[in-house]
Amino acid sequence: MAKQTIVAAVKSGRVLVSDGAWGTFLQKKGMKPGECPELWNVEHAADVEDIGSNYIKAGADMIESDSFGGTSFKLKHFGLDGRVGEINEAAARISRKAAGSDKWVIASVGPTGQMLALGDVTEEQIYDSFKDQCAALAKGGADALCIETMSAIDEATLAVKAARKHTTCEVICTFTFEKNTKGEYRTMMGVSPADAARALVEAGAHVIGANCGNGMERMIEIVREMRAAAPQTPILVHANAGLPKSVNGVDTFPDSPADMAKLVSAIVKAGANIIGGCCGTTPAHIAAIRQAVDGLKK
Ligand SMILES: [Zn+2]
Repeated sequence: MAKQTIVAAVKSGRVLVSDGAWGTFLQKKGMKPGECPELWNVEHAADVEDIGSNYIKAGADMIESDSFGGTSFKLKHFGLDGRVGEINEAAARISRKAAGSDKWVIASVGPTGQMLALGDVTEEQIYDSFKDQCAALAKGGADALCIETMSAIDEATLAVKAARKHTTCEVICTFTFEKNTKGEYRTMMGVSPADAARALVEAGAHVIGANCGNGMERMIEIVREMRAAAPQTPILVHANAGLPKSVNGVDTFPDSPADMAKLVSAIVKAGANIIGGCCGTTPAHIAAIRQAVDGLKK
């Protein structure tokens, strides 16, 4: 595979397009509430592959994998913590097949759901959990690990370090921020975009960024803060399709593909290098972002 690294592609001046949501796509394919999404890699591989293929067809340069809840801590809720290796390897292999050899697989790694601050788990347990997941994703053919939806610096740092130490993959790590009443962006654990950026660079992440929690508009402000704190590091954004509105009790994401695409040039100006979607985004959103990226003036 004579493929560049993601970092090298960014350093060469390219703006890259990532993929959109997987969870809602799985639901559309028939996943029921209470099912383990990651088990679909084993039991419904063709459906999972189709999600990745749809994003590649939409023009994504990279796709994630169905492994967000693939740590032993998360799989334990389904009695599947003994199958971390099998499930994550399958997830990466499916995305690899969908991506072919010339697109990147950035395999998803979500939080463990454990809070070190509470003292219920040790750093070593968290580290080992990420190590096992990341090693399996690498074995399945991932080019990069996309550690995402992080809110605590201690957990994110352990994940980045485990990924760096136990794989040769590029390591991406993104945090999820919300705007507080003072108008500041903070994670659930009170971390600012600047603090997250500095901590991730220090921990050894190749790519930093933000995912979920915000639409493209607010992501522009978050990216600006991260860029100021980390002038050299590639920044990835996986934005939601706007801020959810409750329609008949169901969270609905209001931003259309065109709504998101029209902010692409502003977010690139703010410092983003890789742009994709999170909750509420579909292949149509990614296709619109692709078009906007291709239309950027150099
Ligand atoms: Zn999301």
